Amino acid sequence: MKTIGLIGGMSFESTITYYQVINEVINQKFGGLSSAKCILYSVNFQEIEKCQKIGDWAKSAKILSEAGLALQKAGADFILICTNTMHKVFDEVQESINIPLIHIADVTFNELEKNKIKKVILLGTKYTMEQDFYKQRIIKKGIDVIVPDEVERQEINRIIFEELCKGVIKKDSKEFFLKVIKRLEEKGAEGVIFGCTEIGLLINKNDVKTLVFDTALIHAKEAALMLIENN
Ligand code: GLU
Repeated sequence: MKTIGLIGGMSFESTITYYQVINEVINQKFGGLSSAKCILYSVNFQEIEKCQKIGDWAKSAKILSEAGLALQKAGADFILICTNTMHKVFDEVQESINIPLIHIADVTFNELEKNKIKKVILLGTKYTMEQDFYKQRIIKKGIDVIVPDEVERQEINRIIFEELCKGVIKKDSKEFFLKVIKRLEEKGAEGVIFGCTEIGLLINKNDVKTLVFDTALIHAKEAALMLIENN
């Protein structure tokens, strides 16, 4: 079996989801005590978050590129960056290694396309919702991406960093997310992208009327399927 490399720790709360989903998919496929061959390089999220705040993407690209190189040297066959936001430095990390890096927005787009989605809500950090590096990758392929208004974006970003990344789950925050989703569904969205790997810790597909695209689950499942295909 091939080996997955995970650049995780952003936050460690959602890296747990990746580890669990990848192993569950492999175990369901092969049975017995089968589990995935995988290597985790978990960064110090405090350092990464500081870079995000001051806009030092070059420094965070260097940290993640070093992680990618270490995973490659340790025997990974392909790599995932276990966060949406840090796909901001996807190109730099991919250029520093010579094994594939699987883009979270690309595998999410494939799911949107399979479900014939034409208009979708994107929830995530302020970087993911406001900047082009993520949503343009989906818009360019013909899907309309809508995001919450500025006040909503600020609150969503606060909940992600002050609560979800610390494993804090609050009823009020869940209600806030659901209220935003409902408002945007009324604008004709046919689905919602959980474009932050921690959102699935707060809400899930049963809470939402339209289709949910949980990027942590989609990304992790895709990686497990790549292991199965290449087995
Ligand atoms: N895990 C989150 C994401 O998917 C946020 C943490 C980060 O800023 O990397 O974007």
